[in-house]
Amino acid sequence: MKLWQDILGTEEVGSYVGGEVLLGQGDEVELVDPTTEVRLAAYPDGGSQAVREAVAAAEEGGRAWRAMTASQRGRILWGIGQAVRDRLDELASLESRTVGKPLRDAVAETTKVAEMFEYYAGWADKQHGEVIPVPTSHLAYTLREPYGVVAQMTPWNAPIFTAGWQIAPALAAGNSVVLKPSELTPMTSALLAKLGEEAGLPVGAVNVIAGLGPTAGQELVTHDGVEKVVFVGSPATGRRIAAAAGEQLKPCVLELGGKSANIVFDDADLARAVGGAAAAIFSGAGQSCVAGSRLLVQRGVYAEVVGRLAELAGRIRQGAPWEEETQVGPVQNARQLDQIISMVDGARERSAEVVAGGDRLDRAGYFYPPTVVAGVGNDADIAQQEVFGPVVVAIPFEDESEAIALANDTSFGLAGAVWTSSVDRAHRVARQIRAGTVWVNSYKTINVMAPFGGFGDSGFGRSSGLDGLLEYSQAKAVWVETDPEAPLAFGY
Ligand code: NAD
Repeated sequence: MKLWQDILGTEEVGSYVGGEVLLGQGDEVELVDPTTEVRLAAYPDGGSQAVREAVAAAEEGGRAWRAMTASQRGRILWGIGQAVRDRLDELASLESRTVGKPLRDAVAETTKVAEMFEYYAGWADKQHGEVIPVPTSHLAYTLREPYGVVAQMTPWNAPIFTAGWQIAPALAAGNSVVLKPSELTPMTSALLAKLGEEAGLPVGAVNVIAGLGPTAGQELVTHDGVEKVVFVGSPATGRRIAAAAGEQLKPCVLELGGKSANIVFDDADLARAVGGAAAAIFSGAGQSCVAGSRLLVQRGVYAEVVGRLAELAGRIRQGAPWEEETQVGPVQNARQLDQIISMVDGARERSAEVVAGGDRLDRAGYFYPPTVVAGVGNDADIAQQEVFGPVVVAIPFEDESEAIALANDTSFGLAGAVWTSSVDRAHRVARQIRAGTVWVNSYKTINVMAPFGGFGDSGFGRSSGLDGLLEYSQAKAVWVETDPEAPLAFGY
């Protein structure tokens, strides 16, 4: 909280709009420390007033941003990366406190924010069009044009990471931004916007709204001044946002949830596969869109892998995010904890076997233990619906074709992994998994340089890399007649 005051000069939490903290007037939103359940702060929903002012500020800020040269924009983006590095520990510490994320993880994610700005800084002056060898006497070329004001909605599991992930490419392509982070974690995103201005961003180029989804979020998506919508969050909200955007024919990118399959073949290095499976689901208390929440294990090694994973789950050190030895912190909020409890209890009632964890910890804070569920088929609710908690379902398979069939028997398609010592099998299976990211003998590594996104209910459009950058501009074709005698065309 001290960081908020240091950087923004006020104790009061609000939106960051047009270079100032704008206090809301709507319903009170409470921020609770997930580790202690103690109230950290409260603020009024920014609502439609914040949205109107933020879009107006973004229109003005965007004009100033686009008036700069591409190289100037690149230097400023690089400077934002440096500003994040300069305040890395403070930003990570606030993120850790408000999300309940172990400090080590928050430091790693905040470092990635700096990398995102540095990566897209390099792209700022390298977005050029092409000359097209058309069969007429025209010079035909393309321009990449930014959309203008882009709306971004982000969730609570990795707020500063997700903010940097979307703000950096949007700016690199010449847009301005109105970002609405989750109402539960609005602070680090607003601080990022302020640090951006200190690094040279025009006032209003990035605005952050502290407000609720159904009020501020909905209003933002449908505001006439918003030209593109990028949403990171749950499939249910994603559907609502895509419908609202579709009504106005606004393009959108949806980065939604997952139920990713982590496939272990009997020829894998089992020690690494088990360690990888634990990290895939238990890190971040399972609150990761790419969490390896379905563990598919070849039958010959199923008992051994599940046994070793259960034993490892029991040894994971859970505790306060600021304690050095903590590997897994609490779940971020009470609603999410209730959802995890109800899904695991529901599976148990339908005769699932809980081989590790399975009961909320008896202490203050939203702590749920690393949990391994077995004895259910891939059609069980717990195997089909996103839990978004530290809960993995283990399912056996016979052979490669059954593994692929099970992996793809989901409405989602965000990620997956294959553990095997066979090179040909690794590539064959990676190719056939219907998901935006597949790891081989690894899990969860991501980098801003590589495209990321979903198939099916995991969404559409891509973030990161060149694909992510291209989402933030559109091609325009310009045809210049070079032959003054050329016949004037009627029709095409
Ligand atoms: P959520 O869908 O409840 O909320 C996401 C954001 O949308 C929040 O800012 C929320 O306030 C806003 N929102 C809610 N209703 C809205 C509306 N009607 N109009 C506009 N905005 C609205 O998601 P959550 O619970 O915060 O996050 C968890 C989900 O996010 C999980 O499903 C997880 O898999 C997903 N996620 C996906 C990715 C990815 O990259 N694919 C990354 C992280 C999280």
